[in-house]
Amino acid sequence: MFPDHDVFDGPNFDQTIFTSSKTCVIFHNDYLLHDTGSHPENSNRLIVMKDAIEKHEVGKSIDWLQPDLCEEADILRCHSEAQLEAIKFAAHKASESGGRLAYLDPDTPVSSGTWQAALRAVGGACHAVDQVLAGTYQTVWGLFRPPGHHATPDRSMGFCIFNNVACAAEYARVKHGLKRIMIVDIDLHHGNGTQDIFYSDAGVLYSSIHQCYHYPGTGFIDETGSGDGKGYTVNFPVLAGAGDGEFAIYGREVVAQIAWQFKPELLIISIGFDAHMKDPLGSLDVSTEYYGKMVTLFRAIATELGIGVFYALEGGYSLEALSESIVECMTASVATHFDPGGLPMPYRPPISSQDMLEDLRTTFKGIWNI
Ligand SMILES: [Zn+2]
Repeated sequence: MFPDHDVFDGPNFDQTIFTSSKTCVIFHNDYLLHDTGSHPENSNRLIVMKDAIEKHEVGKSIDWLQPDLCEEADILRCHSEAQLEAIKFAAHKASESGGRLAYLDPDTPVSSGTWQAALRAVGGACHAVDQVLAGTYQTVWGLFRPPGHHATPDRSMGFCIFNNVACAAEYARVKHGLKRIMIVDIDLHHGNGTQDIFYSDAGVLYSSIHQCYHYPGTGFIDETGSGDGKGYTVNFPVLAGAGDGEFAIYGREVVAQIAWQFKPELLIISIGFDAHMKDPLGSLDVSTEYYGKMVTLFRAIATELGIGVFYALEGGYSLEALSESIVECMTASVATHFDPGGLPMPYRPPISSQDMLEDLRTTFKGIWNI
């Protein structure tokens, strides 16, 4: 069932040459219709990111694409009909009440425009898959709202309505016949929804680095999948204060190694900028520069595997961190020359991550050669 480890010799980053630097951003003004007022997950997040890209030199190298709305079927592959109806009803209620927000839980508001925005977000995720698999772009960014990685098969929660990346993965299987998809989640929070949706599924490998003991309280190392999916959920929880060093270890020692062995046909990154050192909701310490280095790493992995990468926006609540980081990431996405020095290096591994790595090696012994 698992790849043959005897032939594994790891990705050769020193010889990686970027074959394509074509990058697009999928965006639609409907994403601003999810009007959450002064909630930290508000439309200003997207407005500042779009502005930052357009005002920077890098903006000249980026194509902007507008997606269609998704079909309800694209959502129903991952979510229950009752959940879909609940969102539709809550948006209707918000609209009937003169624009007052309806709440799915204390964290998750629904406005009159949420239904339209959520359909457009899943539509954007499906469009991203089409673009990557057509080979038009090696790198596709989805600047979506509402975010998605906390949305479970039957519950919208944690600022998330529908699980955009999960719907994209299912769409890639149904519409494009993909067999192996890898979702890497570098948001500060654990993507409990994505994990739940694919927990017993060996076709979608889900791996996440996140701040331990933080919302939503899941994502421990021993959550490794069930049934056929045993071994295909890989969590790397880190303690408050962890930053570039821990993300380097995770990227180089965990993601790159497993990707090389699993050989996904599509790499999806749930990207949250709430792991940034300036983020007001989290306590991780990732630098702006480092977000760019992670993009370089993902491009190197994708190039080695001959596949494309789709980044879907999840969290990130410092407007300053969002604008700086998206420009850094776009710059790394369009770079035409591969610079091994631009990769995250596992220099001086922090003690806590060394222990974590050993735990992970023990947990996945005989499954993944980490
Ligand atoms: Zn988050």
